[in-house]
Amino acid sequence: MEEVQKKDVRKLSLPELEEFFLAHGDKKFRAKQVYEWLWNKSLKNFDEMSNISLSTRELLKTHFVINHIQVDLMQHSTDGTIKNAVKLFDQKIVESVLIPTSKRITACVSSQVGCSLDCNFCATARLKRMRNLNPDEIYDQVVAIKEEAETYFQRPLTNIVFMGMGEPLLNYANVIEAIDKITSPEGLGMAARRITLSTVGITKMIRKMADDGVKFNLAVSLHSAINETRSRLMPINDTNPVEELGEALKYWYDKTKRQVTYEYVIWNGINDDERHARALAKFCKIIPSKVNIIQYNPIDEGEFRQAKPEAVEMYVRILENQGIVAKVRRSRGQDIDAACGQLANKNEVAQLTEL
Ligand code: SAH
Repeated sequence: MEEVQKKDVRKLSLPELEEFFLAHGDKKFRAKQVYEWLWNKSLKNFDEMSNISLSTRELLKTHFVINHIQVDLMQHSTDGTIKNAVKLFDQKIVESVLIPTSKRITACVSSQVGCSLDCNFCATARLKRMRNLNPDEIYDQVVAIKEEAETYFQRPLTNIVFMGMGEPLLNYANVIEAIDKITSPEGLGMAARRITLSTVGITKMIRKMADDGVKFNLAVSLHSAINETRSRLMPINDTNPVEELGEALKYWYDKTKRQVTYEYVIWNGINDDERHARALAKFCKIIPSKVNIIQYNPIDEGEFRQAKPEAVEMYVRILENQGIVAKVRRSRGQDIDAACGQLANKNEVAQLTEL
């Protein structure tokens, strides 16, 4: 299979592509033209590059392929949310979600195939981690949703959240490279402040992001500010406990001056009491922050149940009394398993287990 041995042209940086053209007796600027076709215009084959000569296109074809994601299945929720099952070049599948509101259209993208973190309330955790996504695979998910926003809503894509499958900080280099492309003029030219990366709270990587001077927003899946409870929910807390997380976030804020959003689910009998609410309020005082209280999306018949409305109200009251902004988010796309924590390739499980 000749095709398999050819390199994916999108693995090359612009300088590498320039080098390629120079080495083959072509002009350096050719690289920029091709690069724009590949990224800004997201072309899937060389023949559509209309300002590139036939001989150059042939040259490219003998050396390279363009690996591209394929939207394998698109599902529409009754609330307007769209879920894409995305097939990768090696037939693996991830999911991404378009979430429309009156003001925004948000792309929720995946960073890994499966996840290694074992948060025991999350459906993605059941898939285990298979591999990291490449920068182009992350970028392509955004492009697919941008096109769907234009087709189905006649509106532009406004925001991107790394809240799909996987832990973005365990695929840091590729996520950063994808964000660089998304924000660069040769790519999508989107503003970094419209991008939010969500993490389980890997303290070492939060510090690294701060050192790297990233310009996007940070969200942390907190769910409890009490170690005992958080470790029960998220095993990552054993090695990244609440105090250390607080320290890392302080480091982040000192360097970036950007506030952080805490994602928080309130479960019946687990963290629905005043002690947990007060611990959260205290944690929120470490740096400027706000809280998104998200509804629990049931993933099976297990031990987790959404807390009663009174518990949610109690949290909001305690937080607001201390001047902390808390928003209760309604769940989106639940009917098509597109909501937080539900991304599990349900329609593709059969295929996936065959691989
Ligand atoms: N690994 C990163 C990115 C995934 S974001 C992170 O954990 O932050 C997905 C968000 O949905 C996280 O805040 C996660 O805690 C939350 N979540 C997972 N399962 C959920 C469920 N069943 N109901 C509601 N939220 C859930």
